[in-house]
Formats: sequence, structure tokens, C-alpha cells
Amino acid sequence: MQLSRKLFGTDGVRGIVNQTFNPEFAVRLAMAVATYFPPGSRVLVGKDGRIGNAAVYDAVLSALAACGSKVYDAGYAPTPAIQVAVRDLGFDYGVVITASHNPPEWTGLKVVLSDGIEAPPEVELAIEKNFFENRFRYMPWYNIRSIQRYPLVLDHYVESVKEHIDANMIAKHKPKIVVDGANSVGGITTPRILKELGAKVLTVNCDIGYPYREYEPTPTSLTDTAKIVTAVGADFGVAHDGDADRAIFIDNRGRVIPGDISAIILASYVVEKNPELPKRIVTAISTSHFLMERNAKSKGIDVVWTRVGFINIARKILELGGAIAGFEDNGGFGYPPHQLARDGGMSAALMAELIVKKKQDLASLYESIEKPTILRSKVPLPDREKGFRVVEELKNRYSHAKIIDIDGVKVITSEYAFLVRPSGTEPIMRIMVESWNAKTAEDVMNALKSEVEKLIMST
Ligand code: MG
Repeated sequence: MQLSRKLFGTDGVRGIVNQTFNPEFAVRLAMAVATYFPPGSRVLVGKDGRIGNAAVYDAVLSALAACGSKVYDAGYAPTPAIQVAVRDLGFDYGVVITASHNPPEWTGLKVVLSDGIEAPPEVELAIEKNFFENRFRYMPWYNIRSIQRYPLVLDHYVESVKEHIDANMIAKHKPKIVVDGANSVGGITTPRILKELGAKVLTVNCDIGYPYREYEPTPTSLTDTAKIVTAVGADFGVAHDGDADRAIFIDNRGRVIPGDISAIILASYVVEKNPELPKRIVTAISTSHFLMERNAKSKGIDVVWTRVGFINIARKILELGGAIAGFEDNGGFGYPPHQLARDGGMSAALMAELIVKKKQDLASLYESIEKPTILRSKVPLPDREKGFRVVEELKNRYSHAKIIDIDGVKVITSEYAFLVRPSGTEPIMRIMVESWNAKTAEDVMNALKSEVEKLIMST
């Protein structure tokens, strides 16, 4: 299914502003989207804080209206805010103009169905068919509906997160939290959520505009933010990506915590907070195998692996009838009682509640997790098909080991494990290596990286 899509990747359509994603492309794509849904469908549209969105956003609104949708314009809004509002407020679908964590010259479009979950591949394929066959349903002028501003989305989102959190407890202890909004939409909502819950909030990069740091929250892009966390003596820091569905945490000692480790910390807390939920974590194959074996499975929490892309995690949770958490290693964490979506604001609120309830600082929680060495790297990949051929070759070469091949190839031995996977959002091959022995992890990464580079050249 994934192979046959030409525009949609793991997480919507993405392209570079005024190159592959110019206004003309945006209009045709949005017309293809609106044509897919029945005439008169109510669509909620939002955008992240990218400067380049000015070139395409209004074009998308007009195109949706031209092809029969009733458009509600939320303006700047985190992806999870659009998702929960679509689900709760009776919209037929949602559209978010965002390229998530991609570099600043990118933008993108993703479609959310009425349940608030990302559109599945079959819907994306039908939209692509409209796009490539120029099947656009132009409405007669008298049936075109006006475009309405809809700023209530942010209020709804903030309230919906707060409903799941014990504000009295947070207000009593007043944790000090640094929020880094990546100069995008997380800067609007997360400080508000935490302040209204009673925390003391210090904002960094929370004005919308030219991004001070990369949208992707990583130890490198968060160097300055981490210094601020320790300088002001904060209990923790939380940093978002461009559309604030991710939350990466910085502990009170200034260490940037990998997303899968903060997810384990949060998930272990949800087991106590929501004992009614099935003791199950659903996570993407890109999460560390050893980490989950040691910190979840050994504690009686079942671990279910899916393909990368949160839609796969959300659907699996629905199919299995619930979970304590669904997450990716990149800081995308979903708390099922709120919504089946990655949600940076919800994650930040849960972490605030966790540290005051457990009376433990984040540094000691971080230290309590048994952590293998996890190394992540990437190699340029000129063409995705080539990436799939490299994966097939690696499966042959490592057939003696345990292999999981639901997405790319994960090889598991007693000393190390690795994952090689063509990215669904960028022209790169992602490589992850893990081991309980740091030297082994480094050696395997060095050897594997050059093996993959050679295979890309030769296949
Ligand atoms: Mg994102």
C-alpha cells in the first residue's frame, strides 16, 4: 500500500515552499482533498508557525471552499489541537498545514478524519487519484460557503488537556518549567496549559516567527535551552517540534532525555494513574528493543510493535481495545484516555503531574531507567525504491539473527540490535544501533553505516 503512494509519505504530503510545494501544487492538492469528501463537509484547518506557510495557507483555504467544503479556519494551532477539536466538535475532517520537524524551508499538508486520527493510506490514495487525474469538483458559485475564522480550537484543546490532570496538586507544588516552543505553535498552547494548571512557566522560543533553533528537538538543537533549564533551577524543560505533537524533556540537571526514555517514564506513571487501562504499550519499530525488554516487558507490560507513523500506533490501540500509551522514539507520545494522537502539550502536562505526585525529580527518574547505548544516524538516500532493495539485501545478509521486518529491517542479536529503514518523510536512510555495551554499539554503527552506504551505491 505504502509503495503505491506518490505524494503522501509517513505523515502527510511534504515539500519545499515554492519548489515542490508551491501555491499551485497546494491548490491542486487541497482541491483533490475537498473533492474526496462529500459536498458540504465541515473541515477544520490549522497551520504551524512556518514563515513559508504564508505562500500556501490561504490558497489551501480557498481551494477547499471551491471544491465544496465548509471551511473553518483555526489559524495557528498544534496538530493535536486540530485533531481533538475535529473529533469533539463535529467536524467531518481536518487539514493541517505543517511539515512537523522538517527544516524551515519545508511545509506540508496532512488530513485528519472525523475521529481525529490521521487519514489511512486508502484515503490518501483516493486523494492522489483525484490529484493526478485532475478530478476536481468545482462547486457552482451559489453553493460556495464562506470561510469562517474558528479560534475556539485553542481553548478547546487547552481545556481538554487540563481535564485529565490534577491541577490542585500542581498548584500546590508549583513546579518550575521551561517551555521551548520552537518558535511555532507549541509556544501558544503549552505555556498556557501549564500556567493554568498552576505551574511556574518560563518561555523560550515561544514567539512565532523565524526559528531560532531547528524545529526538530534534539540534544544539539536544545543546547541553549538545556543551559537555561539549569540556570533558572527549573524542575524540567519541555521542547516541541514545529507542530507540537512531540515533546522532548530536559531534566533538572540539563540533560536532554531521549524520547523513548521519557515515554517509558510517562508510561510507567500512567500504569499507576489509570489502573483500568490494559497493561500494554504500542510503539513503533524505531523504538529501542532492549529498552523495552528491560523496562516494560520485565515489569509485566506487554509491548506491541508497529510500522513507523503514529497512525499505525493509533489504529493498533483501537484494534486491541486500549493501551496505557502509544509512542515513538522521537518524543511523540499519546495518552489514550485523552486522544489517540501524539500530543506534546498533553505529554508536558502529564510530566508536570508526575513529578509532583511521585515527589521525585526528573533526573532521578531518568537515572532509574536501565538504558542501553542507542545510536541514531542517517545516510543520504537518492531514491526510496533503492532503500527498499538495500533492506532486502540486509535481510539476506543477517538471516542468521532474529529479524523483524514490518518496516525496514530490525536485526536482534544477544549483543546488539539495529534498524535500517528508508525515511517516509525525507530522502534519507535511517540507521539505529543499540547495545548494552557502548563500544559494541559504536563499532556496529561504524561498520553498518559504511555497509549501507556501499549498498546504496551498488544496488
Ligand atoms: Mg510533529
